[in-house]
Amino acid sequence: MQGRTMLDLGRRNELTVLSAVRLSPDGTSQSEVVHRTGLSRQAVSLITRRLRERGLIETDGTLSGSRGKPRTVLRIVPTALLAAGVHLDPAGISLVIVDLLAEAVAQRSLAPPTDDPPGDIARIARELSAMQEDLQREGWRTPDGRCAAEAMLGIGVASPGGVDVAAGIVLTPPWLPGWRHVPVTALLEHETGLPVVLDKDTNAALTAETWSVAGPAEESVQYVYLGAGVGSALSIRGRPHHGAAAQAGEIGHLPTGLTGRRCGCGRDGCLSVYTDVETMLSAAEARGLPLGGAGRASSERLAHLVASATAGDPVAAELVGDYGAALGEALRTLIDLHDPHRLVIGGPSWDVLSPLVLPEVQRRAAVPAPDGTAPGLESSRLGDGVGALGAATLFLQRELSPSDS
Ligand SMILES: [Zn+2]
Repeated sequence: MQGRTMLDLGRRNELTVLSAVRLSPDGTSQSEVVHRTGLSRQAVSLITRRLRERGLIETDGTLSGSRGKPRTVLRIVPTALLAAGVHLDPAGISLVIVDLLAEAVAQRSLAPPTDDPPGDIARIARELSAMQEDLQREGWRTPDGRCAAEAMLGIGVASPGGVDVAAGIVLTPPWLPGWRHVPVTALLEHETGLPVVLDKDTNAALTAETWSVAGPAEESVQYVYLGAGVGSALSIRGRPHHGAAAQAGEIGHLPTGLTGRRCGCGRDGCLSVYTDVETMLSAAEARGLPLGGAGRASSERLAHLVASATAGDPVAAELVGDYGAALGEALRTLIDLHDPHRLVIGGPSWDVLSPLVLPEVQRRAAVPAPDGTAPGLESSRLGDGVGALGAATLFLQRELSPSDS
């Protein structure tokens, strides 16, 4: 199977060179790869030839250096390999097939997970197979003529926590009541014949961010994902930090210092009391603010709440204001704890809320360090599909970036 044989690629120096070329999507030169990797010119030359023979990189034209000497351009061949991503979200299952630069070549949305996980996984496997057949019908081919199924490296799955990353088991995700101790990796490998990797959706989203942006290798990135709830992830040198039981980043009960609202855990002012979307929407409705009627999806009711706050409704403005204040306090704590180079916020709730809450979040969180610097606070550019995209990049990262080899 193609997916298996590509795993043999895993020699550290080859992956180091491949990463250096990948992170310059407009092309780079052999000298720049030598400089960036610290490998010898002879080694880079040999490895470059091997990667070209495998069809993973190509040479194309010349690049004019500052000293005038033309140099051959090395460039990744994005369509040489594919990976699939699966996002198990309570609102629906998203599937994507991406190329080596994590650009989507096919996407599909399925009905939400049910109380029958093996049935859901069989459904996912069937759809992934159908997506590959569609690509074949549309004439999709690698430059050396392989079809999508032959180019497929493997599958990444992103799930709400908690998960056992090493064993590939979804343990107790909070909004998927039918999914308890499900061996997702083993089931999906059995259904598809492809290798599968599992991680939390926050770690997947973070991996999509770090895969798509060519930051310095030593960079640490703090990511906060705002969906139905709130989660965070931290990557150090391009790798998500999992913690002892993959529970790192579960920040729902982080104290915000705000008072007056009791959390289900018994304490006052936990972050999730303010940022759990359903809690916020129920509070608005209980205080007499109609959000478009019962039975509406929470995304529609949230959009309604934001529109009311924008129009000056005091109840909506107070709830949204508290969301921003709590999030800002939590981010300040995370920044103090981790001192990241970059801080990225994303997720479907952030896309809706950020125009209103960003100023308050920034005011509370962006407190400069003693040297006067403050980490940049960025909104994710990857949008709604970041879960599935991130799942696919989890697999690309495991197979194609050098640190794990
Ligand atoms: Zn709590």
